[in-house]
Amino acid sequence: MSMKEHPAGARKVLVFGAGPAGMTAAISAARSGARVTLVEKTDEIGRKLSMTGNGRANLSNRNLTHEMYHTEAAGRMDGFLSRFGTSELISFLSSIGLLTRWEGDGLYPVSGQASAAVLALRRSCERSGVEMITGAQLKTVTPKPAGGFVCGAGGREFSADAVILATGGLSGPRSCQASGDAYYLCEQLGIPCTPRYPALVPLIVEDETLPQKTGVRAWARIRFFAERDRDRKPIADEFGEVQFTAKSVSGIPVLQASDIVARALHDGFDVRAEVDLFPEVTETAWQDLTADLTGRFSSETVLNVLCGICNASLAESILRRLSLTETDRMSDLSPDLRNALFKQLRAFPVRIRGIGDYARAQATAGGASLAELDDDCQSRRIPGLYLAGELVDVNGRCGGYNLHWAFLSGMLSGVHAARGRSFEPDDAEG
Ligand SMILES: Cc1cc2nc3c(=O)[nH]c(=O)nc-3n(C[C@H](O)[C@H](O)[C@H](O)COP(=O)(O)OP(=O)(O)OC[C@H]3O[C@@H](n4cnc5c(N)ncnc54)[C@H](O)[C@@H]3O)c2cc1C
Repeated sequence: MSMKEHPAGARKVLVFGAGPAGMTAAISAARSGARVTLVEKTDEIGRKLSMTGNGRANLSNRNLTHEMYHTEAAGRMDGFLSRFGTSELISFLSSIGLLTRWEGDGLYPVSGQASAAVLALRRSCERSGVEMITGAQLKTVTPKPAGGFVCGAGGREFSADAVILATGGLSGPRSCQASGDAYYLCEQLGIPCTPRYPALVPLIVEDETLPQKTGVRAWARIRFFAERDRDRKPIADEFGEVQFTAKSVSGIPVLQASDIVARALHDGFDVRAEVDLFPEVTETAWQDLTADLTGRFSSETVLNVLCGICNASLAESILRRLSLTETDRMSDLSPDLRNALFKQLRAFPVRIRGIGDYARAQATAGGASLAELDDDCQSRRIPGLYLAGELVDVNGRCGGYNLHWAFLSGMLSGVHAARGRSFEPDDAEG
């Protein structure tokens, strides 16, 4: 029997959304013997996937644990990850012809190109006999009383035994056309959705003392405090390259904290960040360093001293904040002002006024409730309906966790939708 022929009685599976979750679901369902149709709203397959990881696609991470994910049903994540971890993902990707390698903790295509992942998934769909329809937007999902579904998309009606919704979330540049359609469909079907907001997103500051130009970066520790924390316990504490402009702060450490910060802002708390530009320097060493600078460079301008120890644009920001001029010298500073100057370098304060919009976000927080899904990503309320990928209330940290979830949920739902039995590691090898 050729790959495109199906045994009599093969189940018909409809998959909506040709991103990583939907294409993985379509491939695994087809390999498991189903007749599969994959329906995509846009004319382009895997548009967002092609943009991931700055065009390189960080596909997964060595540190896959529930702590790396935000979801209301956090207790479920370890169970999912233990069934489809990095070795299963690597086997699956290799089975579709995409070789990967570890770079530090991140998994990437060996080619170094996200477009290679899109191509391998698309070609594997084609080789597995998946019918692919583009330019057809899913509008309705109607369960039939006797089982199965009728779905309306692109002015046509499609019938199937099982339906997999993998239509993504709301994040990404406008060219991705992410519209979050399926939240509305889920709610119509009685599947609860948690509130959505942009995740892995820059934070809005609107601070005129910060540099006007873009590209100002500093390796730093950034800690976020919510007003409620009188004991000064940070709600998030991250290290890495922070990027500053007068409008926003970004960079990976900011994106990593953005979900927690968004929740605190949503709960009505004031949030401020403190940036430590010398996180590796102990307090004692810092005292010695600042005493040395004060003594040796007393006749030097404050600006020149700062430029020797931090980014020049941040040095100008510090002058603005302390109302100093470019000609003020170290010896002009009172002890209090000198302390304030050095404090800016260890706890540069930034008030957070909001979060960036979906166009600048890499993920959507919230979504279709994970608690509503069984271990195969099937709805507990509507058997035969599966949800996968960003649509579900699961969002990970930066570093490959979101794509891993897309592949994982696509694989589990595809195998089960086709056969009614759960994923086993051999399924990853095709
Ligand atoms: C700039 C950027 C960089 C990123 N980098 C990384 C990274 O390096 N590593 C990582 O892990 N994650 C990264 N992410 C996140 C990652 O891209 C997403 O988690 C992932 O694409 C989600 O996969 P998905 O299949 O669920 O959804 P999507 O990739 O969004 O695919 C959903 C598909 O469904 C289609 N669709 C929508 N509505 C309908 C409808 N009504 N009918 C039919 N089709 C529909 C869409 O057009 C789309 O093709 C990044 C995101 C962005 C924006």
